[in-house]
Amino acid sequence: MRVLFRTDGVSVFQSAIFLTTSTVLHSAASVVVIDPTWLPDEVMAIRRYVEGIGQGKEWYVLLTHSDYDHILGWQAFPEARVIASASLAHSPHKKRILKQVKQWDADNYVQRPWPVEWPRVDVMVEFDAQHMVLDEEMSLRFWLTPGHNPDGIMVFAERQQTLIVGDYLSDVEFPFIDYSYLLYEDALKKMELAIDTFGVNVLVPGHGHVAFWPQDMCNRLRESWEYLDALWAHVAGRKSFDEAWLWSRYPFAANQVAQHLANIRRAEAEIDWQGRWLAISE
Ligand SMILES: [Zn+2]
Repeated sequence: MRVLFRTDGVSVFQSAIFLTTSTVLHSAASVVVIDPTWLPDEVMAIRRYVEGIGQGKEWYVLLTHSDYDHILGWQAFPEARVIASASLAHSPHKKRILKQVKQWDADNYVQRPWPVEWPRVDVMVEFDAQHMVLDEEMSLRFWLTPGHNPDGIMVFAERQQTLIVGDYLSDVEFPFIDYSYLLYEDALKKMELAIDTFGVNVLVPGHGHVAFWPQDMCNRLRESWEYLDALWAHVAGRKSFDEAWLWSRYPFAANQVAQHLANIRRAEAEIDWQGRWLAISE
């Protein structure tokens, strides 16, 4: 499995599938595995790494959100306690999402050596700026970030100065708005605040590559805002969306064009033709 980045306390792995990232944070007493994913061999490589560094430590699996690509590997760590949002724990979409995992595995002849089940959440994230101190060197700060999907969270590892945002601020994906345009904006504002305030050294998106430089982080924020603004202008009838501009930035148009169209439909459901917000419909 490809390792994008490694220091004493942080390792970021990248799957060959959808460039999905999995992060391992560790201290003298704790190991936190974030969104361990895709192929069984890839997840087992992460597990072997955790076995190497994690002897005698407390293990945690942290799930940034419930999209099927992020929850399919947690059971490779049955001894870990699971951290996720309360909305993930109580998701009304459990059946549909587990079916997506099973369908993907069947389509690709993938057999997982662990059962595919809904995460059993042991520690719940319920409000913004929630603080979780796992040990002296591992303190985590959480924010709720629904928008991409209904149950997202982002986490800042304070000692490691690492911000893990789930499916936001990617360099290979424009905003995927699968839940709410308005909430997506709120989530971006929280990320902006965290980046401005906390001295983030490492920004890890759910897909793509890690950002290290403040300028790179700012560019990703700006690109997300530009996309949302262009979408709003399009839906409000002010300026039609410049797709050539979009596909000059993002490399996987053949796959992502459907997502762009879905974003337009989502925005249409939330914004009227004069650009005013409508009540959110789920
Ligand atoms: Zn994802």
